[in-house]
Amino acid sequence: MIQLYIPLNFLGVLYREIKQSLTDLDKMFTLLEKEREIADAPDARPLRLDGPPAVRFEQVRFGYEAGREILHGISFEIPAGETVAVVGPSGSGKSTLARLLYRFYDIDAGTITLAGQDIRQVTQASLRQAIGIVPQDTVLFNDTIEYNILYGRPDAGHDAAVAAAKAAHIHTFIDRLPQGYGSMVGERGLKLSGGEKQRVAIARTLLKNPPVLIFDEATSALDSANERAIQAELQRVAQGKTALVIAHRLSTVVDAHQILVLEHGHIVERGTHPQLLALGGVYAGMWALQQSGRDAATAAAPEPVPA
Ligand code: ATP
Repeated sequence: MIQLYIPLNFLGVLYREIKQSLTDLDKMFTLLEKEREIADAPDARPLRLDGPPAVRFEQVRFGYEAGREILHGISFEIPAGETVAVVGPSGSGKSTLARLLYRFYDIDAGTITLAGQDIRQVTQASLRQAIGIVPQDTVLFNDTIEYNILYGRPDAGHDAAVAAAKAAHIHTFIDRLPQGYGSMVGERGLKLSGGEKQRVAIARTLLKNPPVLIFDEATSALDSANERAIQAELQRVAQGKTALVIAHRLSTVVDAHQILVLEHGHIVERGTHPQLLALGGVYAGMWALQQSGRDAATAAAPEPVPA
C-alpha cells in the first residue's frame, strides 16, 4: 500500500507543480501580451508640438487584467497650459490615469490625445520626450546624484545640474555631502528621504523642461513644511505647462484650473475648488473632513456611483 501511495503522492505533487507552472506561464504571456501592445504603430510619427498641448481623454476604459475594469469611460480635457488635479479615495484609479497618459499601458476603449494626436499613433520616444513625470516614489539609479539629475538630458552638463538642483531646493543638501554631486545614491548608495527623492525628480523635470507635466503626489505624508515647499516648487515648474496632478492631499489642488473627483473609476464631480465647495457634494465632504484634521483624500470609498 505504502509502495503504491508514494508514487501516487508524488504524481499529485507533480500535477500541482505542472499546473502552477502553466498558470505562471499563462500569467507571463498575459503580461507579455500587455507589454507587446506598447509598441510603436508601423506608421507612427513623431509628436508635432508648438507650445504646450491640450490633453484629452475621451471615453477611456481600462483594466490591468481582463474582467476587472478600473476606469469606466473617463472623459476630460486639460486645455493647453492649464492644470487639472485628480482627487479621490485610494484605489479609485488616479495613478492609473497618469500611467495611461505616459502610455505605460494601452487603453481598452476610447482615445487619449495630445495636441489632437492619438498617443497610439505617435512614436513613444517623442511622447515621452514631451512629458515630464514626478512619480509617487522616484526610483534612483545606482549612480551619482548628478547622473540622476541629468538623466533625460545627459549632455546638459554640471552647471545645468546645479542650476536645476538650486531651483528644486536640493542644492544645499547635495553641496554638504562629502562627495557633493559625485555622491553615489540608490539602493547601493546614499538613501534619500521621500522628500529629497521628489526634489531630485523635480530637478530632473526642470532640466528636461517638457511641455507636459505629470505630478503623482507621494502617498506617504511629508512633514508639512516639506510638503508646502514641494508644492510651491511644483507650482513654479507647472507654470505655463499642461499639467496633470494626482493628489493624495486636498491642499495640493486648491489652485488647479479644474479638479476631477474620481470614485471607483468614474468622474463623479468636476469644477474649481470654490465651485466644488458650493456644490456641497463629495468634494465638499472630503474638504470638511480634511479641515477637521483627517486626510480625507485617502479615506475609505463610498459605494459605487453609476456612470
Ligand atoms: P492611491 O490613492 O492609493 O495611490 P489610486 O487612486 O492612484 O490609489 P490606482 O493606483 O490607479 O489607484 O489603482 C486603481 C486600481 O487598479 C486598484 O484597485 C489597484 O489595485 C489596481 N492596480 C493598480 N496597478 C495595478 C497593476 N499593475 N496590476 C493590477 N492592478 C493594478
